[in-house]
Amino acid sequence: PPDVAALGQSSWTLLHSIAATYPTTPTTTEQSDIKSFMKLFSKLYPCWVCAEDFQHYIQKKEVRAGSRDEFGNWLCEAHNEVNKKLGKATFDCSKWEERWRTGWKD
Ligand code: FAD
Repeated sequence: PPDVAALGQSSWTLLHSIAATYPTTPTTTEQSDIKSFMKLFSKLYPCWVCAEDFQHYIQKKEVRAGSRDEFGNWLCEAHNEVNKKLGKATFDCSKWEERWRTGWKD
């Protein structure tokens, strides 16, 4: 079976990197593509308990993808939901772009 932590780290890297390159003003097609992608991702995620919870989350908190900022924040909130479930510290979502797109300034 996959290593759930290693799978998670690389999956969050992929997802937040997709958010970082998502258009600031997406077309209708780009918005529907990201919503379909997230829905399918949540179905195919190869950790079934994770996938089941994530599918429920997407049903409850529908994907927001009207802009890069909106999608980046939606994803950050989704990741925080998993952080809370696992007893990890939550991440300050005002910093998602600094973490995943522009880079930390230090
Ligand atoms: P990760 O949570 O993997 O985070 C990687 C890096 O992302 C962090 O170092 C930090 O810099 C940054 N980061 C942290 N939080 C945020 C945020 N909110 N927004 C932006 N950046 C952030 N594991 C389970 O055991 N059970 C589950 O049910 C489960 N469900 C998951 C569902 C999904 C969709 C995914 C992608 C992963 C899931 N995981 C689950 C894995 C889990 O989320 C972690 O990836 C894993 O526990 C390793 O955690 P980590 O502490 O290394 O950091």
